[in-house]
Amino acid sequence: MTTLLISDLHLSPERPAVTRAFFAFLENQTGDIEALYILGDLFEAWIGDDDPAPLARQVIAALKKLSDSGVRLFFTHGNRDFLIGRQFARESGATLLPDHHLAELGGQRVLLLHGDTLCTGDADYQKFRRRYRHPLVKFLLRHLPLKKRQKMAVEWRQKSMRANANKSDNIMDVSAETVAQLMAQYQVKLMIHGHTHRPYHHYMAFGERLVLGDWHQRGWYIRIKEDHSPELISFPIEENGNRGLFSPEPTNQP
Ligand code: MN
Repeated sequence: MTTLLISDLHLSPERPAVTRAFFAFLENQTGDIEALYILGDLFEAWIGDDDPAPLARQVIAALKKLSDSGVRLFFTHGNRDFLIGRQFARESGATLLPDHHLAELGGQRVLLLHGDTLCTGDADYQKFRRRYRHPLVKFLLRHLPLKKRQKMAVEWRQKSMRANANKSDNIMDVSAETVAQLMAQYQVKLMIHGHTHRPYHHYMAFGERLVLGDWHQRGWYIRIKEDHSPELISFPIEENGNRGLFSPEPTNQP
């Protein structure tokens, strides 16, 4: 049995090639795929499970088709789509996971997370995170009028782009101390996350850390087969369509 993990597709109406590549990726998953883990930021923005936008509806339908075919579907919130809730889970057939989830994949314990909680050097972001991930704040956000939420999503995106432009590379990456501390806390030798958009297979003295890539010119996923080491795989995304074109090439390069 095989497990696949993806993150950071940042699906948006502005980049239809990525959405096409994602649908082709799902269509190609036949045979021995047991589970698909989406480790956050599937969407560039998520304003609520009641979003009637065609992209939201199409993605939910595609995920539903996959889960109906018997593939177990799991979703971790990213910083972009932290408002995904129970209605999305019900409609897509996904199970929502906590921020840090301990799984057993391919015969070993692995800690799964989006990765933003590892970026403890970015104090401003962690402050924003604490504020907006509070259950009461999420409740209030979800109950704002749709129009208001659509406007807020645009504003947040612009604010985040401006803020990140002024941050050093170091601050935007994970904290090595936080990684070590969390892996010790969960007693795992393997951690898988996304968020930083720095796909890589890190080998440390105390274990391994696999980082998923964001989907732009290339798509990225991790494949874990029973009793095999996890593989970080990327494939080209064709700008002009080529729906169904899908040629994976194993790589460990960022
Ligand atoms: Mn993220």
